[in-house]
Amino acid sequence: MAKIEPIPNGVTVVDHPLVRTKLTRLRDKGTPPGEFRHLVREIAALMAFEATRTLETVPAHIETPLAGYEGKALARPVIIAPILRAGLGMADGMHSVLPESSTGHIGIYRDETTALPQSYYLHLPPHIATAEVLVVDPMLATAGSAITAIGKIKEHGVRHIRFVCIVSCTVGIERLRAAHPDVPIFTADIDPELDARSYIVPGLGDAGDRYFGT
Ligand code: URA
Repeated sequence: MAKIEPIPNGVTVVDHPLVRTKLTRLRDKGTPPGEFRHLVREIAALMAFEATRTLETVPAHIETPLAGYEGKALARPVIIAPILRAGLGMADGMHSVLPESSTGHIGIYRDETTALPQSYYLHLPPHIATAEVLVVDPMLATAGSAITAIGKIKEHGVRHIRFVCIVSCTVGIERLRAAHPDVPIFTADIDPELDARSYIVPGLGDAGDRYFGT
């Protein structure tokens, strides 16, 4: 299958040389777990700049040591919602550039008999309905987890959701866009295909296993 050309509506490929070179190291099967963890956090922090570029701001008056200043504050609080468990590393990286943000955890597993994604854990901050929520998962493969996770969050009245992943694939993007057309997707790369086990090819392997060294 060919790469998606042109980039579909609602999808941003964060094609920055720092992201591209770090992603190359991340994909390398010889990259050890310590460096892998570091790279996931760095890439997520760099991607946070693009994923938050269009956040609304409101006027904010402050005093510098010399004078008053009319600046900006974010209009809504930010919540970073990792899909467990591989999303945890990305959440760490994003918190480093959004230190005032809080975290919502979303646990999804794949039922072995039905092959359908099931939610097993959901812990969201109480102010989630008023927040900007960045759902993060390093891999967008079949999109089953992302679609279920975003559906669960929407049940809590959330209207401002963005999805951020490191590696996606053509079919995952198409499915997520079809299920949640209101949710923009930010990805560092779009790979061409999934294999028979639903791994992204060329991808980077199992992101959770490589991150946690399991
Ligand atoms: N999850 C992963 O960790 N890797 C893939 O390639 C697909 C899903």
